[in-house]
Amino acid sequence: MNVFPSDPDSEALRGLVGALTESGQAVSLYDAEDRLRYANTTYRDLFMGDYDGPLTFTDILRHANRNRLGVRIDDDIEAFIARTLPRRRSPRRKSFETDLVNGRWFWIEHTILPNGWVLSVGADISTLKHNEKSLRQAHEAALVAARTDLLTDLPNRRHILEHLDEALVVDKQSASGLCVAIIDIDHFKAVNDTYGHDAGDAVLRHFAQGCRERLRDRDLLGRIGGEEFLLLLPGIRLSDAVGIIDRVRAGFPPHNLPDDARDVRFTFSAGVTEALPHDDRSSILYRADRALYAAKAEGRNCTRIRFENEIPPLRGETRS
Ligand code: GH3
Ligand code: MG
Ligand code: MG
Repeated sequence: MNVFPSDPDSEALRGLVGALTESGQAVSLYDAEDRLRYANTTYRDLFMGDYDGPLTFTDILRHANRNRLGVRIDDDIEAFIARTLPRRRSPRRKSFETDLVNGRWFWIEHTILPNGWVLSVGADISTLKHNEKSLRQAHEAALVAARTDLLTDLPNRRHILEHLDEALVVDKQSASGLCVAIIDIDHFKAVNDTYGHDAGDAVLRHFAQGCRERLRDRDLLGRIGGEEFLLLLPGIRLSDAVGIIDRVRAGFPPHNLPDDARDVRFTFSAGVTEALPHDDRSSILYRADRALYAAKAEGRNCTRIRFENEIPPLRGETRS
């Protein structure tokens, strides 16, 4: 009967170490005094280069740092050593990921052997990390896209309404004032009919950009429908909000059509209201909408306000 060898002979040991190297792992073995007793070629290439000085852990680290090899160290090398050494042999087993100066990532398995020697085996996880990064970037891009109106680059309906909910909560806590306006471009259908749908799109972009330039940094504009926008004006009272909107209106330049040098002139109407203590999304939008309705009814190209609900919002009239 064959007895399975529990102590490998030197040929088996060489085979084992060769196999680790072959599979791309970086292997090192430091003795109890932290002198390097073995390093495979992957480890030497990554951490030592052509180093031929004293083989202590700290000398090798300093050499690597001077020659832009090994682990990426953001602070001073001596501070890094002072931080690393006390933790080097505790706990007895640990695994962690680390990034190298050359942009690669390694997963390190660090084991303290019973005689105090340190075995470190590192596996290259660069592909995994890069995939993880691309996934994270794709996820962030998808989140931004889900909140952004494609045409104007403004927050879309869902996102600006979320901002409204948050602004109402902040206003309830701080009582610093919040005004809300619904802005609608006048006779926009005629813009499309006269100049074409693409020109209409360009006017919407031009309008969004022009508003952004004229509003305060803390004001937030979002697109809630075709040619309809929601404007949040935090920290002010109604009369100041009307002033801001009217300043946006005054001298708003027409959109210049690049192809035929014609100017597309347009106006907008706005309905504005101020948050009341009991307001929620639908009650405040209801008032702003009624104010907008009044602005349209009174000839357009103007701003109208609404203080309190004269009639409570009916189910079919609330907007959210
Ligand atoms: P009012 O002054 O009463 O608001 O009149 P209006 O013509 O602006 O309003 P109406 O609701 O009759 O028409 C809005 C038009 O906006 C109709 C629709 O085709 C156009 N529209 C909606 N979304 C877009 C868009 O994304 N691009 C373009 N070019 N047109 C759009
Ligand atoms: Mg309109
Ligand atoms: Mg409209």
